[in-house]
Amino acid sequence: MVLRYTAPKGTRDVLPSEAEIWQQLEGLFHSLAELYGYREIRTPIFERTELFLRGLGEVTDIVQKEMFTFTDRGGRSLTLRPELPAGTVRAFLEHNLAEEGPVCKFRYFGPAFRQERPQAGRYQQFTQYGVECFGSRDPASDAEVIDLAMAFLERAGLAAVELRLNSIGCPICRPAYRSRLLAYLTARVGELCPLCRERMEKNPLRILDCKSPSCRAVVAAAPLTVEHLCPACAEHFAAVKDYLTSLGRSFILAPHLVRGLDYYTNTVFEVVAPGLGAQDAVIGGGRYDGLIETCGGPPTPGVGFAGGLERLLLALAAAGAGPREKRVPLVFLAPLGAAPKELAVRLAHEMRTTGLRVDLDYRSRSLKAQLREADRQGARVVVILGEDELARGKAALKWLDGGGQEEIDLSVLVAYLREKTCSE
Ligand SMILES: [Zn+2]
Ligand SMILES: [Zn+2]
Repeated sequence: MVLRYTAPKGTRDVLPSEAEIWQQLEGLFHSLAELYGYREIRTPIFERTELFLRGLGEVTDIVQKEMFTFTDRGGRSLTLRPELPAGTVRAFLEHNLAEEGPVCKFRYFGPAFRQERPQAGRYQQFTQYGVECFGSRDPASDAEVIDLAMAFLERAGLAAVELRLNSIGCPICRPAYRSRLLAYLTARVGELCPLCRERMEKNPLRILDCKSPSCRAVVAAAPLTVEHLCPACAEHFAAVKDYLTSLGRSFILAPHLVRGLDYYTNTVFEVVAPGLGAQDAVIGGGRYDGLIETCGGPPTPGVGFAGGLERLLLALAAAGAGPREKRVPLVFLAPLGAAPKELAVRLAHEMRTTGLRVDLDYRSRSLKAQLREADRQGARVVVILGEDELARGKAALKWLDGGGQEEIDLSVLVAYLREKTCSE
């Protein structure tokens, strides 16, 4: 019996044909975040389980149902990271990075793991990217983070996105709001979905953004966070909106947009893309002035965003968009005979060291077969090395992009090809 292996459910292979757009998006994210002053941090893909219990809150869906948790040989509980911010906070505290300056800005990009029911654009291993700005309470930092998120999506080729913005207040104004919300919801508890009935006690704010139609009908008339902000929170929210306007970033007020955890404060936002159905957010973020304290650090304000690369790819495909393909042109060497082949092997090495992208067919086939192979690989030019040409110190170039054929001295071949293909 032949055993056929397949990738585990909920995972995917990124094949060479797709890897290029992954590289482009990853490169774009890093270079853009660098311009905004966010430095890269890379943390382990697993952490001690307690970190996520604290950082994500024990009542969240992620912690209750979705974590890949295992026990190591020493009996310690470890978890594959379900998101990257928790590890970033842990590293920030462990290495006292706050000593480097009053404001620390990080970016991250890497795999994360959740045991979710697989659905479009959702995988059990997915790729999360995002930024964190620790140490600034200033509303200009909220605007900077949002501006970076929007700039990234724009440059990635996703033009028709919508920025949704809300404020959920702070530990001073939220308790009073929460009681009002609870009083309202208690009167209509029978109309809520089973999950939201559970949320009533631990996490009533999450009911506001429940997608179930019956809950949506209930919350349509619920009291709103923005109507119950304390003066400081109202001022912060107004300033964020002003900054965004002055940056030319339009937004839509989304009074039902919330983050469920207590450490979230003030600004919450998401960027939604058309074509993704109910799960339409490509980036989500906000301010979380209580997070670092929750994770055992000193009180430190924070604001950031995170997104999933697979969702972004889905949105780009739905929009028929994406970063422009920009590959280094391929030079294909076609030797005919034993001596030319030996030369071709050496030439390929030399050309590659100068930055040319070079390939050749080692099967010593006919010129016709080699030209066909060059065409299949999308080569720009074929360097034909025959015994005759070699004897005269020449090579024949055949330009496959319609540039005809020419003979070039072997002594200047590499320089000539560099000039013709690398100057774009
Ligand atoms: Zn407040
Ligand atoms: Zn619900």
